[in-house]
Amino acid sequence: MSRHICLRCIGEDPYSCKEYVIEYKGGITSKPILYEDSDFEHCINCGVGQGGYHHLYCESEKCPCCGGQLISCEYPLSYERNTRDQQDT
Ligand SMILES: [Zn+2]
Ligand SMILES: [Zn+2]
Ligand SMILES: [Zn+2]
Repeated sequence: MSRHICLRCIGEDPYSCKEYVIEYKGGITSKPILYEDSDFEHCINCGVGQGGYHHLYCESEKCPCCGGQLISCEYPLSYERNTRDQQDT
């Protein structure tokens, strides 16, 4: 298995990541969108099962805020990949 280990759940449960909330700018939090697909029983990217939380940085996870790909969305604060435009205030 060459899949990298999820930093959030450390691969404890392959069927679902740990329950978590996505933090957005302004202190807003949102529940992540759980995996649900009628074609594949498991997420093709991170491998979680139906109704499971996607693992960290899963390319299939959708952003509950904009409906786009979560890893490329710039709004969530809890994804450290998105800290490119840091402003000191
Ligand atoms: Zn996934
Ligand atoms: Zn995980
Ligand atoms: Zn978004």
